[in-house]
Amino acid sequence: MRNNFFQKNQVVIVSGPCAVESYEQLLETGKAIKDLGLTFFRGGAFKPRTSPYSFQGLEEEGLKLLSKIKEKFGFKIVTELTETDYLDLMLKYVDVIQIGARNMDNYSLLKKVGQATAEDQRPVLLKRSFAATVEEWLLASEYITSAGNQNVILCERGIRTFEKATRFTLDLNAVPVVKKLSRLPILVDTSHGTGHAEFVIPLSRAAVAAGADGIMVEVHPNPRQALCDGAQSLDLKEFKNLFEEVKKIAEVFDKKVV
Ligand code: PEP
Ligand code: MN
Repeated sequence: MRNNFFQKNQVVIVSGPCAVESYEQLLETGKAIKDLGLTFFRGGAFKPRTSPYSFQGLEEEGLKLLSKIKEKFGFKIVTELTETDYLDLMLKYVDVIQIGARNMDNYSLLKKVGQATAEDQRPVLLKRSFAATVEEWLLASEYITSAGNQNVILCERGIRTFEKATRFTLDLNAVPVVKKLSRLPILVDTSHGTGHAEFVIPLSRAAVAAGADGIMVEVHPNPRQALCDGAQSLDLKEFKNLFEEVKKIAEVFDKKVV
């Protein structure tokens, strides 16, 4: 039986590239993340891209590279499951199963994930759909909990509004609202939530100040060359700055960054 890795006195930073591209990319990123003493590593092996012509991920090869990085650095691996066909594969390699925004209302996927993880209570990170209300998102989480897995982690990642200055509108209201309505931990993905690397640090500070249990951030050794979401990815130096800034806010609340 696992717990969901979250404690009240901690701020979790889940970081790593948008997509797994190569072992070298993971190694360089992983080293930077490990040097800061962080616990989690993210990276997509199956990428749900808006365009069918964009890079779709390395699939099982990507999962194997993630598990090499896990072995080397001892990270907890977070990666996205896009369909039930890959569920057994995921269970073999992954510590936290991410359900992406585009699948939040794929209820049969949620039920199957909940059933498949009921026994070991492996955490499931449920992103908010960019078209979902908080109520719809919490109900979606109950497809997983009522199928038997109580270890759901919510992740706000921005919603669609009329605003075009940023990729999505990060709904930080959701943090205290979720805290009021639910016992589940909540992360804020400030990379997808803004779409621009330069806005990631201020929104990350704000997310922690609003009471989030952590943040999710995309990091790449060379964002310009990234095969996915380079514009919103921090380079390794920017990521270190983010860590320092988030640490300052966390300390105000007597929380440790992990
Ligand atoms: C991701 O985290 O890589 C991702 C695709 O996010 P979202 O589902 O929030 O778009
Ligand atoms: Mn991404």
